[in-house]
Amino acid sequence: MSEGPSTGPAAIDAGFVRRWLAAAASVIEREADRLTELDSPIGDADHGANMRRGFIAARTAVEKEPPDTPGGVLVLVGRQLISTVGGASGPLYGTLLRKAGKALGDAEHVTPEQFAAALGAGVDAVATLGGAAPGDKTMVDALAPAVEALSFALDKGAGLAEALSAAAMAAEEGAIATTPLVAHKGRASYLGERSVGHQDPGATSSALLLGVLAMTSRGDAG
Ligand code: ADP
Ligand code: MG
Repeated sequence: MSEGPSTGPAAIDAGFVRRWLAAAASVIEREADRLTELDSPIGDADHGANMRRGFIAARTAVEKEPPDTPGGVLVLVGRQLISTVGGASGPLYGTLLRKAGKALGDAEHVTPEQFAAALGAGVDAVATLGGAAPGDKTMVDALAPAVEALSFALDKGAGLAEALSAAAMAAEEGAIATTPLVAHKGRASYLGERSVGHQDPGATSSALLLGVLAMTSRGDAG
């Protein structure tokens, strides 16, 4: 967060996005085993390992040459996820972040509304790439409600931290709500009805990433 005179107290800068993604790498490392366990009954038991590999590579790349714009950080991290993660989740998360980063362009500070719109564009790109709609038991079930809650809260006049908390809560609820669903996309869809009763691993990692984003905005990530 930064208090640039022309952009207001709620402006988001490169440091904010770097802190988010560094904290995300730590949380993913901590939660990797759980993500892989969720990917066992309805996948191939690699989601935690995929995410860990991708986020460690991303953190290393950002530390080596820290981009000085929010968009630059997002594009770099997205590129790392695409190039280092073999599973479906790499290109999907990579596309989300790259698209969001490109939407922000080379602005040094962006408003919460611009950030929300960029995340929305990223989630739209994920849905287009993966062909998944809400209800298909994928990461979109956490991401779509999160960006909706974020925009809704900002529209109502909430500050960034409050709006991101609402987004994180919506993502968590969306992830939990995947349990009774039949998977229609990704590996889990091969199981048909047998995918019922298991929480989707990608929706779960999405909820983790949104949770860390909310923590970062409250200043207590890490
Ligand atoms: P893989 O399925 O290739 O092993 P991962 O295990 O890393 O890749 O990621 C699996 C997660 O990716 C799923 O739980 C789901 O949330 C997400 N996913 C898979 N396919 C799609 C898709 N077509 N659209 C959106 N999300 C998808
Ligand atoms: Mg997998």
